[in-house]
Amino acid sequence: MTANKRVFIVGGVAGGASCAARLRRLDEQAEIVLLDRGPYVSFANCGLPYYVGNVIQNESALLVATPELFLKRFNIEVRIHSEVISIDRAAREIEVRDLVSGGLYREKYDALVLSPGAAAIRPPLPGIDLPGIFTLRTVPDSRMIREWIETRSAKRAVVVGGGFIGLEMAENLARRGIEVTIVEMADQLMPPLDPEMAEFIHQRLETHGERLQLGDAVTAFESSGDGGIIVRTKKGATLSVDIVILAIGVRPETFLARQAGLEIGMRGGIHVDDQMRTSDENIWAVGDAVENRNFITGVPDLIPLAGPANRQGRIAAEVISGRDSRFRGLQGTAVCGFFGIVVAMTGATEKSLKRANVTDFQAVYLHPGHHAGYYPGAKPIHMKLIFNKKDGRILGAQAVGEEGVERRMDVIAMAMQLGGTVFDLEEAELCYAPQYGAAKDPVNVSGMIAANVVRGDVELADWNLLGSNGTMILDVRDPSEFAAGTIEGAVNIPLGQLRERLEELPRDREIWISCGVGQRAYYACRLLSQHGFNVRNLSGGYESYRARYPQGIHVADEVAHTRT
Ligand SMILES: Cc1cc2nc3c(=O)[nH]c(=O)nc-3n(C[C@H](O)[C@H](O)[C@H](O)COP(=O)(O)OP(=O)(O)OC[C@H]3O[C@@H](n4cnc5c(N)ncnc54)[C@H](O)[C@@H]3O)c2cc1C
Repeated sequence: MTANKRVFIVGGVAGGASCAARLRRLDEQAEIVLLDRGPYVSFANCGLPYYVGNVIQNESALLVATPELFLKRFNIEVRIHSEVISIDRAAREIEVRDLVSGGLYREKYDALVLSPGAAAIRPPLPGIDLPGIFTLRTVPDSRMIREWIETRSAKRAVVVGGGFIGLEMAENLARRGIEVTIVEMADQLMPPLDPEMAEFIHQRLETHGERLQLGDAVTAFESSGDGGIIVRTKKGATLSVDIVILAIGVRPETFLARQAGLEIGMRGGIHVDDQMRTSDENIWAVGDAVENRNFITGVPDLIPLAGPANRQGRIAAEVISGRDSRFRGLQGTAVCGFFGIVVAMTGATEKSLKRANVTDFQAVYLHPGHHAGYYPGAKPIHMKLIFNKKDGRILGAQAVGEEGVERRMDVIAMAMQLGGTVFDLEEAELCYAPQYGAAKDPVNVSGMIAANVVRGDVELADWNLLGSNGTMILDVRDPSEFAAGTIEGAVNIPLGQLRERLEELPRDREIWISCGVGQRAYYACRLLSQHGFNVRNLSGGYESYRARYPQGIHVADEVAHTRT
């Protein structure tokens, strides 16, 4: 690299700050300037909900690195309150507005990195600009929300959007004694999850007393006249509240890129190659503003998470300094905790595979304890593992529980990075002591169940067809469990009696077998298939049934079948 190469970086938080610091470690000579239109760089956006909830009490804790630190430690010049308003690609210049003085100036660059992030969506609804309606993206946003809560002694809130940020905000508002209603347009919370997995969240939040308006959308905001806000919804609800948080998603910040004529991808993010280079060879882009190839489906994707933004920033720095680094693609490994629940996921969901026209996959469900059952306090983890049904390659996993959830998803995420299969999960040697796990960890068990399917030891029933295709449904739990609730129309023969009661089973049609969580049904499948019966396992058993068909199959037959 030539001395004094001028590198300008637009946006000084996750992607931009990572890029600047990495670049300095690789090139002591380069002139590196980090520009941000806000008052801070390198702040912890992921910590903002917890600042609102007063878990993080001092704003200064959110400031991971200051301009002074960047200068002293890395010899990186930081210019805050500095908005880049245009790029002149031919002259290799940017135009910057100093937001304090209002002055404009131009700077020449050899390399330009765009990490402008994404903007919170504010839909053009009537009343959207009323005071008390907030989005959360920056430290000043969180400060304004805190001040509003405190000066108005806020008691009631609506959170619009039940995704990651909406749920974290709901929890943090509740921490401050505020009664929260979550309004979500989709039929489920946490829309990136498959719906039957989200049901475990609904069950938990309902028992926790949270108010959910699922399948409903806000249509208008009105002033209540006394400083409050009236929220009206499509289904006719009228909610009178003191504060509204909009958390309905983000849109990549592409203004500069569009103005400069850089290529924009089909998902609306800045198009980059696997070295984070835009359609201009001197301009790189990283983070929430860009779209990337999805690691699993191969299709262009937008996944606004801090991990990819940081890694992409590093990769851009490495490429600028002459290394041949490449981004592997977006995997979507994410975790979120609220009201005592942890939700984590990695890779593709059934929904995303179907959207990408991938069909040769299979999913298994399991509900193991987060540690050995005999050690007090084991909490269930509801897991779904999705894999290629021919070669067992892992495509994705989702989990909901209270403890140990993210650890299992992290292990699976790493296996996926290495191109792993369900056989690898089966064989993985993981930490075990009774208080932490099980000798057969939930990760191992997920691999074993899936490997049984790939090897052909057991066939899975299609939950979507339950109750509609004339199969016999056999519940092999004990009579007391059966009496407490079962799949509608199921016949009960406990596993222990099965060998003596074979003549009660049909040989002319399929038998779909269920139990509590799928394990006894698997034993029954093995037993009956060796006696010549045509059997399939209802993966995940009655636990999965209740999540998939909360209203039962007959009551909700049509609805349920459209929920896949
Ligand atoms: C409340 C909240 C909670 C989150 N929680 C998590 C979490 O728990 N886990 C997770 O993985 N991710 C989380 N995220 C997402 C994560 O923060 C982002 O994915 C990540 O910060 C994206 O990094 P970025 O560099 O692309 O953009 P950002 O970090 O948003 O930085 C963009 C910066 O660019 C500046 N900028 C934009 N345009 C210009 C311009 N023209 N000139 C100068 N400056 C400009 C902006 O002011 C901003 O400071 C959360 C996000 C929010 C808002």
